[in-house]
Amino acid sequence: MRILLTNDDGIHAPGLTVLEAIAARLSDDVWICAPAEEQSGAGHSLTLHHPVRLRQHGEKRFSVTGTPTDSVNLALRKLFEDRKPDLVLSGVNAGENLGDDITYSGTISAAMEAALAGIPAIGLSQAMRDNGFGFGAAEEWGAKVLAPLIDVQMAKRTLVNVNFPPLPANGVKGIRVVRQGFHDYARGSLAEGTDPRGRKYYWFGLQDAEHTLDHGTDLEAVEDGYIAVTPLQLDLTHHSAISSLAERFVA
Ligand code: MN
Repeated sequence: MRILLTNDDGIHAPGLTVLEAIAARLSDDVWICAPAEEQSGAGHSLTLHHPVRLRQHGEKRFSVTGTPTDSVNLALRKLFEDRKPDLVLSGVNAGENLGDDITYSGTISAAMEAALAGIPAIGLSQAMRDNGFGFGAAEEWGAKVLAPLIDVQMAKRTLVNVNFPPLPANGVKGIRVVRQGFHDYARGSLAEGTDPRGRKYYWFGLQDAEHTLDHGTDLEAVEDGYIAVTPLQLDLTHHSAISSLAERFVA
């Protein structure tokens, strides 16, 4: 099995080292192509207005001076002319990607880019609190969560989102397959300040997002100490609204 690893925290991120260790337990043909710099919050953006560069750091190790989407797109087009990867893993992100936060996520978007290319893809994120447990849960449980997932024949244009709870490995209660939850809006921190030229600025933060812990969601599972596994689809169509909207355009 050929595996491509990427992330949104950048090629030097500790979470990528964690993912390499997880992937090494699944295959000996592991490639890396990740953004040269941190791209958290980049979403599914493709760089259009300036060139990007593909840099080689080792036999199977590359970085791209662009977004997570750029990294996967370029890797699939330029690194694998003989045989494409069988699996793309994105992460392990330093911080959770739960609820509708995944729409901002570079980690998930990198997996989306692989899914668009028809390659099975899984995003992995480690929820963090100021408790010092770091990537412990992901390190210990990563291969255990992935093993059953990589045998599954996933439908086209789908991917899987995995989130590890902010606990030591032996504190993790198990694995739950759950749906995506939702945050409240407007949410997250917003700092205000004045720059050296006297102009006001704003700075978005990631902390303090309010959310409701609906039953059966990824947010609830991680809060309860479980690893959340959520299948996602790229079809954003709200199917049940098609007929009611169409009726409004009937003359
Ligand atoms: Mn990130």
